Amino acid sequence: MLESARYEIVLFGRKLLESGLVTGTGGNLSVRSGRFAALSPSGVEYGLMKPEDVVVVDMDGRVEDGRLKPTSEISLHLALYLSRPDISAVVHTHSPYACVMACLGREIPVFHYLVALAGRKIPVAPYACFGTPELARSAAGSMGDGKAVLLANHGMVSVGRSLSEAFRIAETVEFAAMVYSKALTLGEPRVLSDAEVDRVMDALKDYGSSVIQTGPLKEGDR
Ligand SMILES: [Zn+2]
Repeated sequence: MLESARYEIVLFGRKLLESGLVTGTGGNLSVRSGRFAALSPSGVEYGLMKPEDVVVVDMDGRVEDGRLKPTSEISLHLALYLSRPDISAVVHTHSPYACVMACLGREIPVFHYLVALAGRKIPVAPYACFGTPELARSAAGSMGDGKAVLLANHGMVSVGRSLSEAFRIAETVEFAAMVYSKALTLGEPRVLSDAEVDRVMDALKDYGSSVIQTGPLKEGDR
């Protein structure tokens, strides 16, 4: 089931690893297709993950296809799909600078125009233990209609219309968190006005909407 979604998860799992947004088996990612979601498996290193390791579940979390256990954050992914009919992909990371801001409990305003890719700010979801329905509710509730949220004392989650978009937003959150945390050590970064954020959001609305070519990996990719 969901063959192209399985390949996408393997491809973007490797991209997350190569970009330094995840290490080892940390973080997880998923793609929704209709009534089902394809999730990265629990405890498999991204560099070794194969399409057949990906686990397909229904929206109640029942495994429909797959021999491994899905990610322990399955409830986080499903809660976001249920609350956001407009999204088709979720990325969760413990990327270092996102963790810095998440552990400070400090949301990121649009101090750099690219933050607007994620919304009017990157909020912080109140702390809840990893892997729990409480964390899923906290993240879905705090994200609102934006595309990223920091998880207090934990990490970050990004969403998108495609895995390509969710990945790009995960990269942007990490960039913004790095610049913001460094800027805060030197002074108080200026935040763009609401009117300017409107203008930037309008200018960015087609950014990242391109669909990447998916499908079986080529020989050299393995
Ligand atoms: Zn986590």
